[in-house]
Amino acid sequence: MRTSRATIEKLPKIELHCHLDGSISMQTIRQLAQQAGIELPVSDEDLRLKITAPQNAESLMDYLTPFDFVLPMLQTETSLELAAYDILEQAQKDNIRYMEIRFAPTLHTAAGLTLSQVVAAVTRGLAAGERDFQVKANALLCGMRHESVDSVLTVVDLFADGGLTHLAGFDLAGVEVDGFPEHFASVLEKVKLNQIPLTLHAGECGCAQNVLGAIKAGASRIGHGVALKDVPGNWEALVADKIAIEMAPTSNFQTKAVDTLANYPFKKLLDAGVRVTINTDNRTVSGTTLNDEYEKIAGWYDLSEAEFRQIGRHAFEASFMSPEQRDALISEF
Ligand SMILES: [Zn+2]
Repeated sequence: MRTSRATIEKLPKIELHCHLDGSISMQTIRQLAQQAGIELPVSDEDLRLKITAPQNAESLMDYLTPFDFVLPMLQTETSLELAAYDILEQAQKDNIRYMEIRFAPTLHTAAGLTLSQVVAAVTRGLAAGERDFQVKANALLCGMRHESVDSVLTVVDLFADGGLTHLAGFDLAGVEVDGFPEHFASVLEKVKLNQIPLTLHAGECGCAQNVLGAIKAGASRIGHGVALKDVPGNWEALVADKIAIEMAPTSNFQTKAVDTLANYPFKKLLDAGVRVTINTDNRTVSGTTLNDEYEKIAGWYDLSEAEFRQIGRHAFEASFMSPEQRDALISEF
């Protein structure tokens, strides 16, 4: 029986794949713009057009345009703190119990902040949100794939900074070209050497080979992984290696990672025993919530409550939470 919206809302959830800059609420964007002295469209309808990607975006590049609009407002410690806090407030409405929020520190240094200051500000926002809402949270640091290998290495170095808390893992994000795991081999080698938990965007607009290369490089989780549809022969290995796939239904169609529902591998991966998870990717840019994404999946595949609970367990098992966070949540998952 298809799970109802009311049941979905009550399910305890974990979200593993959510970008800070793409998920700030409109209300907070207005507040940030005011602080930054940036003028915004007066009507919410006009503002929404600026901060949300079209449902029929032409490509991933098209999908990424709204980020350029918000980034100038995220260049101070106060703004970053506020943004992280805002997302945890939204997460509580989805009954999310634990969340990993990712961001690329190098995108927030235009006004002179150091990378450590950027990370410290975001994690202060997370800590404040944890105090005020029933949500535990960690941060994932992203290296941007359009940047140089040396620049991305400076992000990996942040994990060695003993003063930073809430740092749970590393990711490579942004435009995906075939062969990126090989291009960033020295980065991924350093991540492995320092035993930093690794998730990688792969198979979103690139080839299935990128997903396999990401796993080979040490990723225990894959962001999107839609291209796995082309290599069902490799799914058994994903099950054996307990690789989790962070899928984001609305975003995956918007970025043209997939064209038709028949080609979307979510349910087939789930049935094959692969650890698929449901995520928003970008709450604001995709105009969605985690409840909405669950409801979309429920409608597409008639998933039962038991199947949703299984998906929640996938996220719990694949998360980069600390042992203390795990102990606190294990009874719910
Ligand atoms: Zn993403």
